[in-house]
Amino acid sequence: MSKILVAGAGGFIGGYLVKELVESGNEVVAVDIKPVTDWYQINPNANNLTRDLTVLENCESSVLGVDEVYNLAADMGGMGFIENNKAACMLSVLINTHLLMSCKKHEVKKYFFASSACVYRADKQEVTANPGLKEEDAYPAMPEDGYGWEKLFSERMCRHFFEDFGVETRVARYHNVYGPLGTWDGGREKAPAALARKVANAQITNSSTIEIWGDGEQTRSFTYIDDCIKGTLLLMESDVREPVNIGSDQMVSINQMVGILEEIAQVELSRDYNLSAPKGVRGRNSDNSKVRGLLSWEPTVSLEYGLSETYKWIYQQIIDKAKRA
Ligand code: NAD
Repeated sequence: MSKILVAGAGGFIGGYLVKELVESGNEVVAVDIKPVTDWYQINPNANNLTRDLTVLENCESSVLGVDEVYNLAADMGGMGFIENNKAACMLSVLINTHLLMSCKKHEVKKYFFASSACVYRADKQEVTANPGLKEEDAYPAMPEDGYGWEKLFSERMCRHFFEDFGVETRVARYHNVYGPLGTWDGGREKAPAALARKVANAQITNSSTIEIWGDGEQTRSFTYIDDCIKGTLLLMESDVREPVNIGSDQMVSINQMVGILEEIAQVELSRDYNLSAPKGVRGRNSDNSKVRGLLSWEPTVSLEYGLSETYKWIYQQIIDKAKRA
């Protein structure tokens, strides 16, 4: 049993991680800037605290007596958010910096940083038929502006805090993580939740058209939350100090993903393509050779299953919200 800090515990991935760590018998300090009532999951067996972790003093008090830190705290969202809030995304560097400084000072044994596929070079993602991004494709650096630069810089800081100060760091490059209990509206949601919401709305209101950002031919891979949590824990337990992909290599176009959602909802929709909306890189996929070799990890949940769970949950959220209104 360890004492573990989860930063960003009120968020989507953080909520699941707290649950898993508590169920495995750990003592968990769960911290987020949001009031606890706004957290996606509140675990009654964790010590749930509202603190702004951009502030050094808050990081210091949060890591006191802690063996391990998982840093999942960031000001982030889907493409619509990160393309329009680059400075806000970059300010998350303060969270990583101050947490690392606090871990060094208080001799925390291990530190996890949630990085992103947005660190990969733009010129490796210009065509839809992406062969899969290998970890070395992050350099020479040409990441997503704003959000991706912050992630790449913070990854680098993790590396140097180990090399110079001996803080054991682990870095996962998450590829589009989705599932129930995540952001599904409000502007920060990512493609799976946004599309599931649009299809569910169409099903509920009997409408026949949905809007799609871009031409729908852009490709991505999507990682179900259960796979993400398993990969994260395996990485933390391992001695792997270099960044690794935690992603799926089941690549689909956005149009194909809408097709899967239509099957789940048993609807057929016409598509209204908004070519001026934010759409990100043209093609992205995860190459899992390295992580498979190092951790024997690979995703096990199919996109069809994961989307169906997500769809059911979002459908219910829409119904519940309408009842409250
Ligand atoms: P999320 O937005 O649901 O969770 C992040 C949490 O961090 C939020 O609850 C937010 O309130 C909190 N936070 C923000 N600023 C804070 C501060 N100053 N102090 C304390 N808490 C603060 O996002 P998520 O999907 O759970 O992502 C978790 C991590 O994984 C993030 O670092 C994100 O960049 C990274 N990531 C996620 C994905 C994905 O697809 N979900 C993909 C790549 C990387």
